Amino acid sequence: MHRVRLLVFNAALGPLDYRVPEGMAVEYGSVVVAPLGPRQVIGIVWEAERLEAQSVPDARLRPLVGVLPVPPLKPSLRRLIEWAADYYCAPLAAVARMSLSSGAALKGSSTTLEYRLSGGMPERMTPQRERAMDALQGEQATIRELAELADVSEGVLRGLVQQGALEPVEVDLDRPYPPADPDHAQPELSGDQQAVADRFIAAVEAARFAPFLLDGVTGSGKTETYFEAIAAALRMGRQVLVLLPEIALTEAFLRRFEQRFGVPPVLWHSSLKSTERRRAWRAIAEGRAQVVVGARSALFLPYASLGLIVVDEAHEISFKQDDGVRYNARDVAVMRGHFEKIPVVLASATPALESLQMAESGVYEKLDLPSRFGGASLPDIETIDLTQEQPERGRWLAPRLAGEMFVRLERGEQSLLFLNRRGYAPLTLCRNCGHRFQCPNCSAWLVEHRLIRRLACHHCGFEEAPPAACPECGEKDCLVACGPGVERIADEVAAIMPEARVAVVTSDTLNSPDKAAEFVAMAEAGAIDVIVGTQLVTKGFHFPELTLVGVVDADLGLEGGDLRAAERTYQQVAQVAGRAGRGAKPGKVLIQTRHPESPVIAALAAGDRDAFYAAETENRRHAGAPPFGRWAAIIVSSEDEAEAKEAANRIGGTRPHLPDIAVLGPAPAPLSLLRGRYRYRLLLNARRSAEVQKVIREWLSALNFPQGVRITIDIDPYSFV
Ligand code: ADP
Ligand code: ZN
Repeated sequence: MHRVRLLVFNAALGPLDYRVPEGMAVEYGSVVVAPLGPRQVIGIVWEAERLEAQSVPDARLRPLVGVLPVPPLKPSLRRLIEWAADYYCAPLAAVARMSLSSGAALKGSSTTLEYRLSGGMPERMTPQRERAMDALQGEQATIRELAELADVSEGVLRGLVQQGALEPVEVDLDRPYPPADPDHAQPELSGDQQAVADRFIAAVEAARFAPFLLDGVTGSGKTETYFEAIAAALRMGRQVLVLLPEIALTEAFLRRFEQRFGVPPVLWHSSLKSTERRRAWRAIAEGRAQVVVGARSALFLPYASLGLIVVDEAHEISFKQDDGVRYNARDVAVMRGHFEKIPVVLASATPALESLQMAESGVYEKLDLPSRFGGASLPDIETIDLTQEQPERGRWLAPRLAGEMFVRLERGEQSLLFLNRRGYAPLTLCRNCGHRFQCPNCSAWLVEHRLIRRLACHHCGFEEAPPAACPECGEKDCLVACGPGVERIADEVAAIMPEARVAVVTSDTLNSPDKAAEFVAMAEAGAIDVIVGTQLVTKGFHFPELTLVGVVDADLGLEGGDLRAAERTYQQVAQVAGRAGRGAKPGKVLIQTRHPESPVIAALAAGDRDAFYAAETENRRHAGAPPFGRWAAIIVSSEDEAEAKEAANRIGGTRPHLPDIAVLGPAPAPLSLLRGRYRYRLLLNARRSAEVQKVIREWLSALNFPQGVRITIDIDPYSFV
């Protein structure tokens, strides 16, 4: 090739053509450096016929600067990037950037100096040095990372280096990961499990596109069966990607993986240290990372020889990314499987209606694991009608729930209370004047977090200390908390059962893998009697002594205008119920509700999953909602309210009139102010056959907007705020 077209990493630019200088070898997918004005940009060599660019005569082309020392992106990944950009109406460069998500890795192999305790003592001990040396036992990292770990300045550590107490170690940044052994600890599968595993193994060995929906109740051994698929891929020398919905779940997963395969898998998520990130990236690109476990961002990585993708808890809405490129990792995973020609396993105890429909129509192969492993029974589920059995004033746990908790405490068993609300109280107001504490940047109430003594906005991160006096009327000590969050429920438990050991589990308290590990260890050791948690505790955990689950407010998820509210409530409650009675002892679930007769709650109480899905399917069919129709949202925002409104009206005013697409709005978004931006929404409801993306692109490209206006397109939206 002497002339190439590049997909360049600059959002403002389209593809650009360059000359390949004599002696430089490039191919499609090569990652290269190119001149751009006085600067340089990174780009990917792309098939010219697939990208439109301004035509420039050969003579005016500038030469490439160089090729980066990484394997070229494979055609299967290039096709996936094109598909995702097209489907989600996102810039190609924004999608491609997710593949090259470690700047350091692109520079090639290298070494660095890390430091560890040498065993020697410094000549002079100071309290800071002592603290640092205590904190750094068994650690090895760069000075900067160690300083953060020990919470001392880098200067303190440099002093320790000078005095010989810390010694340098030269490490290869790309040192290999220890190999996983497919035969390390192979379990004996039950007949049902073996049948499922056999289908997976055959599909991995056939190396063809094969999407599976693994539908199995919680505790049925879904993980065990897809582990056998992983083992098959390992035996073939192929890589595996396992997507998990939350980083907090990875800890438990890592341990199980290690028990089965002898070593932990390679981790990928957004809070990796940059050295870990580059090491993982290079190992993935060179085929040395065998099994990668990650959050959705692991999906676009340039695997050298992917052989299997597993999406665990595939119904989870956190697979939907809601900023930047708004993609659904579950759906992109299936597309990646298609382009890579490999099997994809979507595993869930409560599959999304969309996934069930794909199975029903024969696109996915559905495999069932209908019963819990080892004869453990599914928990007994009852509702508590809060209009009949009222908690005491200012309390949220009905006497029957509290009574069952006492029984568990006496027997030395554990209880879990689920409430999907972080913090102490969702609303704080002034007793004197009624002033409500609102975020200055968002149309949202500030949530009191008593553990850290802050009022916080859950949308933008704004925080302030609770004021001593009301900012409106000046009255002192007048703030009242309205409604419960998990912290308040934990206080209630402490008040009625002072001897119980209570753990609050939310993304605030389990905000690192270490904290998650600590929690799991304590719960397993029986050092916790009552767990109070948000959706974070609904899945993944397996505590044999946990025999009671209380759903504090099952109606919470049904409020608000979310089009998937019923399904989500069903999934959450079914998942959290699945935490009960996973060991030898039977479990019980109590669901507090004001609407025991609502279809969702009634189906949960009756354990009648099919009835719920049948009713919800009918609702969706009626509404033309997914999986029967499609939605797309257009969100218009600006720091200037009038400007946002004007832009939204202009979009609304030029709406296409088509038989297969209805356009609703524009209307102010429910969160009409977010991070200081005023927001308007339009919602498109389309028939499945409609070309929504094409229509939106043509519609919007005919319009011009002022600089401050941002237009966001959300295909298959999950959030409607
Ligand atoms: P799921 O992923 O469906 O929730 P798991 O794979 O986590 O189910 O299995 C639930 C529990 O039962 C786990 O502790 C698991 O180790 C155990 N288990 C499942 N199948 C087997 C098996 N064939 N042999 C031994 N233990 C098993
Ligand atoms: Zn805010």
